[in-house]
Amino acid sequence: MSRLDVVDAAYLVAAVLFVLGLKSLARPRTASRGNLLGASAMFVAVMATLLDRAIVDFRVLLFGLVVGAAIGVALALRVRMTAMPQLVALFNGFGGGASVLVALASFVELVDLGQVDSRSSVSAVLTALIGAVTLTGSVVAFAKLQEVGGLRGFPGLATVRAMAAIVAVVAAVMVVARPEDVGWLWALVAAGAVLGVLGTLAIGGADMPVVIALLNSCSGVAASTAGFVLDNPLLIIAGSLVGASGLILTQIMCRSMNRSLVNVVFGSLSAGGAPDADDVYGDRVTATSAEEVAMLLEVAERVVIVPGYGLAVAQAQHAVRDLMRTLGNQGTEVTFGIHPVAGRMPGHMNVLLAEAEIDYEFLLDMDQVNPTFPQTDVTIVIGANDVVNPSARTDPDSPIAGMPILDVDGSRTVVVIKRSLSPGFAGIPNPLFANDGTLLLFGDGKDAVLDIVAALLAG
Ligand code: NDP
Repeated sequence: MSRLDVVDAAYLVAAVLFVLGLKSLARPRTASRGNLLGASAMFVAVMATLLDRAIVDFRVLLFGLVVGAAIGVALALRVRMTAMPQLVALFNGFGGGASVLVALASFVELVDLGQVDSRSSVSAVLTALIGAVTLTGSVVAFAKLQEVGGLRGFPGLATVRAMAAIVAVVAAVMVVARPEDVGWLWALVAAGAVLGVLGTLAIGGADMPVVIALLNSCSGVAASTAGFVLDNPLLIIAGSLVGASGLILTQIMCRSMNRSLVNVVFGSLSAGGAPDADDVYGDRVTATSAEEVAMLLEVAERVVIVPGYGLAVAQAQHAVRDLMRTLGNQGTEVTFGIHPVAGRMPGHMNVLLAEAEIDYEFLLDMDQVNPTFPQTDVTIVIGANDVVNPSARTDPDSPIAGMPILDVDGSRTVVVIKRSLSPGFAGIPNPLFANDGTLLLFGDGKDAVLDIVAALLAG
C-alpha cells in the first residue's frame, strides 16, 4: 500500500466518522458520542494531512499548534455559558478567514507555477468572497452580541452595499479572466469584507440567531471551496457537511421566527417601530412576592415554566429543578415551554435544563405547549422577554412582528420573574407585563425561584 493509498483510506475513515458524528449529534442522548466521533474524525484527518503534505516545516506547525491551543484553552476556560454564542460567532469568522488565507496562498502558488485552470480560479473566487464575508460578518455579529453600542444600519447602506457587490462581481470576473493579476483577488477579498460588515450591520436584534447559523454555514462553504483550490477531498467533504447542516439550521431558525432568509438578509428593521415603554406599562404593572406566588402554586393543578436568557444569566437551572420537584411532590403537573430562539443560541435552554438533569420528556416545544396554555393555571416566565411578547402577534409595526411566540397570556395567571422592566434582546417593551392576569416578581431569577421554593416548603 503506497503512502497515498494510506492517506486516502484515512480520509475515507475520517469522512465516515464525520457523518456518523453529525448523526449522533441530532439526539441529546447520543450527542456526547457524536462529539467524540467528530473529534476523532478531525484527529485522523489532521494526522493524514500532515503525513500527506509536507507543505510547511513541522516546527512552524508545532508553533501554531501551541499558540492556537493556548488561546483556545484560555478562551474555553474563561467564557461564560451566556457568552457562548459570541464565541461561536468568532469561531465561524476565524474559519472563514483561515479558508481565505489558505486558498489565496495556494492560488498564488498555482499562478507562479502556471497551473491555474478554471476550476481553481472559480474555487478561489468563491473562497475569497464567502470567506471574507464570513470573517467580517462574524466579527460584527460578535460585537452585536457583546452589545457594543452604535452598531446599526445607516441611511445609504443599501447603496454602498450595492457598490461593493458590483466591485465584487467585476473583481471575480477579472480573477477568472486574468488569474495572473493577483491584485484582483485582493480586491475581491476587500469587497467581500465590506459586504460582510454592511450585511450584518443591517440585520437587527431578533434576527441575530439566523445570522449566526447562516455564517456558520458560510464558513463551511468557504472551507469546501478552499478544498477545491487545494485539491483536498476531505476539506471538500467536511466543509460541505458544515455548510449543509448550517443551512438546515438557518432554515429551521427562519421558520421559527416566521421570516424568509431573503427578508432577514435584505429586509431593513423598522427603527421607530417600538412604542415607548412608559406608554406600554404606565401604572398597570402589578408586582408580587414569592409568598404570594407560592400561594398561587399551592392550588395550581397545571404549571408551565418558560425559561429565557435571564435564566442563563442567573444560573437558575438547579433552582428551577428544585421548584419542579417541590411542585411534583404536591401533585402538580409541571412542564417547560421552550421557544426555539429562547436564550442566545439554538438549543440554549435545552442545554441549561439538561445540565440540571431535567428530563427531556418535560420539555415541550412551541407547537406542543401553545395549545396547552388555556388549560394552565400558572405560567412562570423566568428571564424570558421577546419570546413571550404578544406584540409579535398584535403589532404589525413591531420589529418582531410575525415571530411565533409562546402564547403565555392564554393561561389563567402569568408570573414573570425578572429584575426590572428592562427590554430583552430586541430592545422593545412587552405589553404582557401590563396585562390583567400578569404578576411581576422583581429579582434575580435564581434568588426568586429559591424564595418561592422556600415559601412552598414553609407553607
Ligand atoms: P430576552 O433577551 O428577550 O430577555 C431576557 C430577559 O432576561 C431580560 O428582559 C432581562 O430583564 C432578564 N434577565 C436578565 N438577567 C436576569 C437575571 N439575572 N434574573 C432574571 N431575569 C434576568 O430573552 P428571550 O430568551 O426571551 O429571547 C431571546 C432573544 O435573543 C430573542 O430576541 C432572540 O431573537 C435573541 N437571540 C437568540 C439567539 C438564539 O439562537 N436563541 C441568538 C441571538 C439572539 P431584566 O434585565 O429586567 O432582568
